[in-house]
Amino acid sequence: MDKELYLKISKPLATCILCGASLAEAGKHPSALVVPVEESEGEEDDLPRREDYCPQCWEKCKGKEFFGYWLAKREPLKPRKVQNRRERNARLAAYFDYFYHQDRELHASRLFFLAHLLMRYGVLRWLRTEKDPENNSERIICRNLVTDEEVVIESAQPTDEELVAIKREIDELLLGTLSSAPVEGTSEESAPEAGTAPTSSDTPEA
Ligand SMILES: [Zn+2]
Repeated sequence: MDKELYLKISKPLATCILCGASLAEAGKHPSALVVPVEESEGEEDDLPRREDYCPQCWEKCKGKEFFGYWLAKREPLKPRKVQNRRERNARLAAYFDYFYHQDRELHASRLFFLAHLLMRYGVLRWLRTEKDPENNSERIICRNLVTDEEVVIESAQPTDEELVAIKREIDELLLGTLSSAPVEGTSEESAPEAGTAPTSSDTPEA
């Protein structure tokens, strides 16, 4: 197939052409090239067209004739390194928020550490510290200056190991390497289907 023809094939679809299942996070999924038959002559869509399928629907298409098919690779967007303070604060605040709405007791050390970082960066403002003499606990009440919400943080005493792990986690968060996204340059090639063309895989859209 010549390059010009190939370029006319549309971008990967966000959903399966048959059932509408989301394909963006599907990892790999079949894509087919359909070249219209003679009868469609004169119609606007007489260009080869691309059809994306979820694996289940692809099974149903066995026996259908395609010009070619291949496995499309859909990679999750890779977060990039933060570029400025604003991005840094937004990413840290979102990270904090995520755990704040999870099991707070379980993530107490992480929340405590993140809260102090966010206070230093002016995202949270300290309001007061409340002590509970009965169980010798302490909580910090802050205001989130972005959402104007009050945030309550239980005091925690992270161990050295926890601190190291949390700091590394935050470094990776800000570098954009925290997610399980594949490391750049090492993503495997998709295996071409036997006896078909084209065998090229999709590159993610910029
Ligand atoms: Zn489907």
